[in-house]
Amino acid sequence: MHNHETELEAAERRIRSIPRCGAAKLAGMEKSFLELLEAIGEDPKREGLLRTPTRAARAFEFLTNGYRQSLEDVVNGAIFASDASEIVLVKDIELYSMCEHHLLPFIGRAHVAYIPDGKVIGLSKVARIVDLFARRLQIQEQLTTQIADALMRALHPSGVAVVIEAKHLCMMMRGVEKQNSVMKTSCLLGTFKEDARTRAEFLALLGQ
Ligand SMILES: [Zn+2]
Repeated sequence: MHNHETELEAAERRIRSIPRCGAAKLAGMEKSFLELLEAIGEDPKREGLLRTPTRAARAFEFLTNGYRQSLEDVVNGAIFASDASEIVLVKDIELYSMCEHHLLPFIGRAHVAYIPDGKVIGLSKVARIVDLFARRLQIQEQLTTQIADALMRALHPSGVAVVIEAKHLCMMMRGVEKQNSVMKTSCLLGTFKEDARTRAEFLALLGQ
């Protein structure tokens, strides 16, 4: 049935399939955003802000939808038997997450590699695993490790490597760090950790 749907239709179907947080929690978030507006000295009744608590609550519901999905939901049906044994690299996956210390975004790219040991996963699912953990409150180091561990659990490959490069708005907007500093984290498991040649091949593929 999905053969003829456009990319936009596919994206909309995916969004509809993401579990909502429920009316009561959404109302609670709206109330919190209303109070936040008052606390910063704004007038929540002025025209531009009338629907802001509702919109902000909806946005937060979406940006934290990783809490309401499991790895099993995401990889469902997209793991295939394979005798491939070379590095599979998915490079430049767009990454949007929120730092758990300031509730401000950090944005960047994730590079995810694995070495199959009997099983491979659909490429789009690798990006969805990144989203599964990025759409929660995060610190970058933990996000990197969670993505790597999830691929280990789903595929039992010989090795997994995850590199994330991101800019943190909590540092940039508050002028804490140089405006263009990029934070880089990595997690290497299995052969990527144990074998220097595999690691070198991965870094060469990344162009680093
Ligand atoms: Zn922060």
